[in-house]
Amino acid sequence: MSDKVSKSKEEWQAELTPEQYRVCREKGTERAFTGAYWDSKEQGGYRCACCGAALFSSATKFDSGTGWPSFWAPQGPDSVAMETDTTLSMPRTEVLCRQCGAHLGHVFADGPEPTGLRYCINSVSLVFDKDS
Ligand code: FE
Repeated sequence: MSDKVSKSKEEWQAELTPEQYRVCREKGTERAFTGAYWDSKEQGGYRCACCGAALFSSATKFDSGTGWPSFWAPQGPDSVAMETDTTLSMPRTEVLCRQCGAHLGHVFADGPEPTGLRYCINSVSLVFDKDS
């Protein structure tokens, strides 16, 4: 299993762009259709922008029409963690990097087969890696 990554607020602020910090460490959301990857069809992997953990593969990416990169599964069973997010009146399931706790997005039960899930992820939380 991978080691957990734990850094102070000051360390994350020094390493990340302001937008990465706002989304990943403060649970923000990038504006739809503005991120680097919502429309990308390149083959490869997507790593955590904060810690580099392998999170998603282009093999499970699909066009959801939402303006955010969408996947029907994480790369592996231990890639992401889930938490209940009650900041809106309708509870949602938050998706986080299991290794460093970065906020990635949310998962919804209206995705395609074979899982029926839609992992709706902020581009700014990810870094594309064509070799992974
Ligand atoms: Fe991470």
